Parts: sequence; structure tokens; C-alpha cells
Amino acid sequence: MPQTSIQARLIKSFSLAILIPSLTTAVVGVLMIRRQVLDQAQGRIASDLSAAQEIYQNVVDRLKGSLRIHATRRVIYGALDGGDRSGLAMELERVRRDEGLDVLTLLDRSGRAFHRTRNPALAGDDQAWDELVRRVLTRMTPVAATAVVPPEELEKESADLARQAFMEITPTPKAGPTGRTRQSSGMMLKGAAPVFTADGRMVGVLVGAVLLNRSTALVDKIRTVGFREGVYRGQQVGTATIFQDDVRVSTNVKNADGSRAITTRASAEVADAVLRRGETWWGRAFVVNDWYLAAYAPIHDLGGRRIGMLYVGTLERPFLDSLVRHLYVFLGIALLGVVLVSCVAVVIAQRISRPVRAISEAAHDVAGGDYTRKVEAGSQDEIGQLAASFNRMTEELARANQELREWGENLERKVEQRTAELREMQAHMLRTEKLAAIGKLAAGVAHEINNPLTGVLTNSSLMLADLPPGDTRREDLQTIVDETLRCRTIVKGLLEFARQTKPQKQVLSLNAIVEDVLGLVRNQASFRNLEVTTALDANLPFAMADRDQMRQVILNLVLNAAEAMPEGGAITVRSRAGAGGGTVEVAIADTGPGIPDGTKEKLFEPFFTTKKTGTGLGLAIVYGIMEQHKGAVHVESALGQGTTMTISLPTTNEDVA
Ligand code: ADP
Ligand code: MG
Repeated sequence: MPQTSIQARLIKSFSLAILIPSLTTAVVGVLMIRRQVLDQAQGRIASDLSAAQEIYQNVVDRLKGSLRIHATRRVIYGALDGGDRSGLAMELERVRRDEGLDVLTLLDRSGRAFHRTRNPALAGDDQAWDELVRRVLTRMTPVAATAVVPPEELEKESADLARQAFMEITPTPKAGPTGRTRQSSGMMLKGAAPVFTADGRMVGVLVGAVLLNRSTALVDKIRTVGFREGVYRGQQVGTATIFQDDVRVSTNVKNADGSRAITTRASAEVADAVLRRGETWWGRAFVVNDWYLAAYAPIHDLGGRRIGMLYVGTLERPFLDSLVRHLYVFLGIALLGVVLVSCVAVVIAQRISRPVRAISEAAHDVAGGDYTRKVEAGSQDEIGQLAASFNRMTEELARANQELREWGENLERKVEQRTAELREMQAHMLRTEKLAAIGKLAAGVAHEINNPLTGVLTNSSLMLADLPPGDTRREDLQTIVDETLRCRTIVKGLLEFARQTKPQKQVLSLNAIVEDVLGLVRNQASFRNLEVTTALDANLPFAMADRDQMRQVILNLVLNAAEAMPEGGAITVRSRAGAGGGTVEVAIADTGPGIPDGTKEKLFEPFFTTKKTGTGLGLAIVYGIMEQHKGAVHVESALGQGTTMTISLPTTNEDVA
């Protein structure tokens, strides 16, 4: 059987049918999961950004609030109003430290420096250039905002501040082209509040500021307060950075050596979107040595100019890991589904192919001649029907084959029968022809011999009568007479055998003829030792036959029986209607020596004899007569047990005449 079985083909088709939807599902599923994780990340970064912005604004607002409160203190407005400076310097320095400010400066009503906490020696210069100061002087309300402060102004407050702000800009591959290699201005959270006297006159401005460059307080606060998650595999998940223009000035992103990653620049793409176009930029960013999901928002100063950026980033790895975990689970389930469906496919394929294979094997057996082969019908479907049809077909085949064989055997038997009949007919014709030829010859010879023979017999008999007793020639003459008599018997037999006349048929009873013949021979010398009995059927049908010829037939047979038993024995003559009707039979049975098989065929040939003085014509005559009567004669003999000669004749419906 070919190895590309139905089963294999079914499994192949099933696999294809499974593969296409499962591939589609896998692709769609992966895309959906990715989308969902990315959405989740997007949401996360958006909420981180708004938290960061809120905290940033909160710090600015707090700065404004605390300056407003401190500005109402008597020690401050007293100094400006009445010139009582005792305790001012100490008090302002205490406030600066308490509030964690880098700058705390008191200005007079015209905006000139009255007292610098960190540089008391320098006073009197005009600070009205400052937007915030101008705003307070004109509107008389507190204000706070991010501001870029030039290096000489930083220097005025403190040399330390100027140093803290100064940065050598690190060249950054993706950043836009720039001529700057250093940055000496500083980005500050700056607040200013009007100083009022007890009776409500504005006598000055209290200015406070925090330098963001190299400071970590704000970004660390954003991270600890604003971001939900802390550490993922030893790495900070959330990071925040403040840019002055496109330069990182404050961050909690760490370099590989643990230092803070400042002085580098944002990529040109980000700077373009955020600083030039004022957009919020979302996307992936490779920061230091990891991928982050990042958001950049612009930082404005009081006049609405974009002076920097606030960045928040969340490590991408947790999202990727979650994505991979989701994918594993999803693909696992999909794979399990494919395996399950494949198992089902294999089972179904087997269920379909098994009966087909059974039928195929059975067909093979049937082709090999085993018509008893049956297939189990099993299911009710087409395959079941196929099995049933197959079984029907096999039965039909078996029946047809049986018929053919019987027909063949029948034919053979008939041919044999016909051949035997033909052979028998040929033999019969041969015998008849042979007998006719011999008969003609014999008749001619006998006729010619008969007259001279009569002459010889008459004259020799007369001569014998004339010779006196004791004459020596008597013995010779007696021999002549005897031999001539024997010749006459032969000639008589020949004439009888060759008789050409048609039988004079009449209705007669064979029983009567049997009685006649037995009456004639019973008293002869040769019958003295014999026991002759008859068993004649009283209701024997009549036959149409020549009476004399029938007598001769019975006589010849009875004489042969007697001659076969010279030492004595029994002769039984039976008559009966032939089996099957239409014939009468007479059987003459003796208890003689029987006839050997080899001679049985020659019995009816003329001149066949086993006796010293036999003519061999007796049975030939019987045969001829029976032939002319459309009757038959046949022999049954067993060596040492006896012989039965049976003649049969057709019956007639006529009664005895
Ligand atoms: P013949 O009697 O002159 O020999 P038949 O033609 O009458 O010639 O018989 C031929 C031969 O058939 C006989 O010689 C004998 O051998 C054999 N035969 C005939 N009838 C019998 C019989 N009843 N028992 C044994 N042999 C027989
Ligand atoms: Mg004889």
C-alpha cells in the first residue's frame, strides 16, 4: 500500500487548515498585546509627566507663598522704612537657610539692592531689569516663575553660585549643531514678594531663588513623590531631568560611574519639537545606557518664553518584560490550541482512514480469490455504505464464481459423457460393419461348401454302411463322416450367422420361449449334472420378435452356460420387465468359472472360442439377432463365481395373436 495514505493527506490538510487561522490569530494577538502594553506605557508616562509638572508648579507656588509671608515681617519692612538694620542680616540669613534658598535679597522701593544675604557688601545696584521685580513693583502682588539668570547677576549674589551654574557642555551625538561649548548662566526658580509696612505702604521687594543647575532636590522630589514605582532589577524606573534650553542641568539619571548625567544635550529632534514648536514630545529615548519611554514638556519663564524642558522617563524594560510575558502566555495558549486541534485532527483522520484501509485490504484479499472476506460496516455514513456495498459485491462475486465453477464442471461431465457415447457408437459401428462383411463372406463360402459337403457326407456314410464289421478301413471312414458332420455344423452356424432375411416379428411371450428351449435340452446328456431353475415374471410384458430367432438366442446362451460347467452346477433363468420400463429382459445365470476381463470384449466376435470343438459363432449370432431386433445383450461375470448373460427387447402394447 502506498505510504501517502489517506490518513497522511487528511492530517496534512488539517494541519494547513489549522496553521492559517492560528498564524493569523498569533499575529493579530501579538499586535493587540503590543498595542495594549504600549497604551499602558503611554498612559503611565502621561500620568508621570503631569505629576512631575504638578510638583514643579507646587514648588514654585510654595516659594511664592513663603516669600509673601516673610515679606510681612517687621524686621524686614522696619529696616527699609525706618532704617533700623539691626538684626536684618541675621534674620534674612536664617530665613534663607530655613527655606533652602540659594538667593535671598531685599530690594528697596525703587528696585535697588538693599541687602544681599550672601553678599552683603554689594548693594545699591538696580535690579529693576528683572521681570519679576518689575511685576511686583507695578502690581504689588507676589510672583514666582522659572527664570534664566545671567552669570554676572549670579556672581553678584555669590561666586559659588556662578561656579555651580557654570557648565562645560558635553558634545552629544544626536544633538543639533551649536557654537556653544559652555554655559555660564543659570536656571532658577525665582520668586518675589512686595514688602509692606504695617500701615500698608509698599517699601520694597523680597526676592528669593533656588538655582536648579547641579541641584538634585527638585528632580528627586519629583521622583519620590510623583512616580509610583521605585526600582526594577536594581534600576530606578522613573527618572526626571530639567533642561536649561537643551542642556541637562539637573537630573537623577545616573552615569555608569554613578555620577549624575548632566551637561549633555537633548537630541535635535526633541529640542526642535519642544523648544522651537512648544509641543510635548512623546517617545522612546535611549538615555545613558537604557531605553526609556520619555516625555518632554517645555518650561516657560514669566514672559511665556520657552527657556527649558522638563523630562520624565520611565524604564522601558518592565513594559517589554510584561509584553514578553503576555506574549509567552498567549503563544502558549495558541500552541496548546494547535496541539489539541492537531490531536483531534489525527483522531478524526484515523477514524476516517481506518475503515477505508480495511476495505482496501479486504479488496486486496478478494482480488487474491478470498471471497469469504467481509468488512465491518461500522458507521452509518458513506464509508459504512461503502463497506456494505463492498460486502454485497463480494457475495455477488462469490456466487458468480461458484456458478462459473459448477457450469465448468457440468460442461466437463457432459463432454466426458458425450465422448464416451461417441466412442461407444464408433465401436458399435465398427463391430456392425465388421460383422456384416464377415457375414457376407461366410454366406458365400458356406453356400458353396454346403452342396459338396452333403455329397461327401452321403457317399462316406454309404461307404461305411457297405463295409463289413471289422474292416480296417471303417475307422478311417468313420473319421471322415464325423469331421464332415462337424463341418456341416460350422456351415450351418455360418449360414445362421449370415442370415440376410429380415426377422418375422410377432407378438410373443419370452417366458414361453424359455420354457420351450429348456424342455428341449433338459433330457440331454450334458444336462445330467446340472440343476436348472427358472424365475419367470408371470406379468412379463410381450415383445415383438421372431420366434425362431429368439429360440436360437436362448438356446445358444443356455448351451454356453452348460458347456462352461462340465463338472456340474446350476443354471437359473429369470425374466422381468426392464428397469425404467419399455423393455423386457431375460437373464441366464450360471455358476461356472466366469470370464476374465481381457476376453469379455472379444466374446461377440465371430470365431472367438476357447473350446476345442467350438465354432465361436454362438454369441456372434446372438449379437446379430439382438441387433436386428433393436435389442441388446450384455455380460456380467466374476471369475470363479459365474456368468450372467442378459438380453433385452423392446416391449409392445399388442396382445398375443
Ligand atoms: P463356442 O461356444 O463355439 O466357443 P460362442 O460364441 O458360443 O462359441 O462362445 C464363445 C466363447 O465365449 C466360448 O468359447 C467361451 O469361452 C465363452 N463363453 C460363452 N459363454 C460362456 C459362459 N456362460 N461361461 C464361460 N464362458 C463362456
Ligand atoms: Mg457356443
